[in-house]
Amino acid sequence: MSKIVIIGAGFAGQTAALYLGDELGKEHEITMINLSERFLYVPSLVWVGVGTMAPEKTRFPLAPVYDKMNIRFVHGRASEIYPDDNYVIAEKKDGSGTVRVDYDYLIVATGPKLNFEATPGLGPEHGYTYSICTMQHAVQSRDKFFESVERMKKGERQKIVVGTGHPGATCQGAAFEYITNIHKELLRMGLRDKADLLWLSNEAEVGDFGVRGVKTRWKGQVLTSKEFIEAIFREYDIRWEVQKGVREVDEQKIYWEDYDGNFGET
Ligand SMILES: Cc1cc2nc3c(=O)[nH]c(=O)nc-3n(C[C@H](O)[C@H](O)[C@H](O)COP(=O)(O)OP(=O)(O)OC[C@H]3O[C@@H](n4cnc5c(N)ncnc54)[C@H](O)[C@@H]3O)c2cc1C
Repeated sequence: MSKIVIIGAGFAGQTAALYLGDELGKEHEITMINLSERFLYVPSLVWVGVGTMAPEKTRFPLAPVYDKMNIRFVHGRASEIYPDDNYVIAEKKDGSGTVRVDYDYLIVATGPKLNFEATPGLGPEHGYTYSICTMQHAVQSRDKFFESVERMKKGERQKIVVGTGHPGATCQGAAFEYITNIHKELLRMGLRDKADLLWLSNEAEVGDFGVRGVKTRWKGQVLTSKEFIEAIFREYDIRWEVQKGVREVDEQKIYWEDYDGNFGET
């Protein structure tokens, strides 16, 4: 019998757990250690951030799934790994202390570390920007968006900039979904004319999305994502600035450097 331990029940760890649970059956012991007792469907945060999806719609409890598959679940934070002696220490979330979990095979699937510190002034904790990268961040963004909506209802114009926050960022898809969701929500509320929406990103061109663009079929035509997204942005009246890496943010401005080494601010 082998002992397999997985740390992190995001898409990676959860996929591993489900496949292994299915393939290995009761012969081997599988343990999942995860910070949260629920699975979070991260891509749905683009809707949580504008209030069109409730947080509870994006999560489900892990324990019942694991019970069915004979997977042991430790709700806690893996805090130490001892690769020479093959064990992990987890701090249990119920406050009952730590637990030692032995393994023959270890899968570390703890996901990305958000690195707001790499850009001064970025991020909701120590900076001036909002994020939809975690549930807590998406809820904060939603509340901030609602505050903006209230101002618009009183006739105040709002300028909303959405994009990626570091010159080295390589994934713009969620930000793109978010800005189009903001557009759609404001349109629905009859407030779209009260907001200037700006897309600011380090992409080589609009629609690059960190994968050098894709081709898409739209209204019977094959288009590059540049053509497609530019058409969408024009139709939605979203302005765009690309080839700009954000260096710093303060209360009023975003400071960037472009591909040619020029410095500027938005
Ligand atoms: C708003 C948004 C929209 C997105 N949309 C898409 C999309 O449409 N399509 C797409 O392909 N990708 C999308 N992505 C990217 C995608 O969500 C990530 O690539 C994916 O979630 C990464 O999965 P993961 O399992 O590696 O990590 P994560 O999803 O980050 O999961 C890691 C897990 O490990 C846990 N963990 C971390 N540290 C510990 C520890 N020490 N002990 C125990 N547990 C720990 C965490 O709590 C978490 O449950 C989106 C991302 C965002 C933010």
